[in-house]
Amino acid sequence: MEFDVEKYEKRNAMPWDLVYPGKHYVPDEVFKERYKICSGCEFFTKKAPRICKKCHCWMKLKATLGIAYCPVGKWGPYEEELLERKWFKNQEEQDLSDKAIRTMQDAAVASKEEENKKQENS
Ligand code: SF4
Repeated sequence: MEFDVEKYEKRNAMPWDLVYPGKHYVPDEVFKERYKICSGCEFFTKKAPRICKKCHCWMKLKATLGIAYCPVGKWGPYEEELLERKWFKNQEEQDLSDKAIRTMQDAAVASKEEENKKQENS
């Protein structure tokens, strides 16, 4: 299940992917396999909330997302298989999905910048 992070050009899962309506979850067996790898990983906190010290994500949620991958390459995204299954009907539909995700990312970045400015001015 090892995965070459350096060669992968797409972004990793972000918290807002969990609320994105077009998200795809991995099958249960894929989640179990990913979580098993995390559970044995040196970067996994053994006590609650059981997060990854590399990406600071709660793995019970992140490992459910198709586009997610381990930041040090211990497991990869499930995206290729999602495309093979044609959950996106065509390229246009996928482009729309990517655009919606980018819009949400931009909004999150803008909101963070505004928050930082407010803190600087206070
Ligand atoms: S995502 Fe990767 S680095 Fe993080 S806990 Fe899981 S296996 Fe370890």
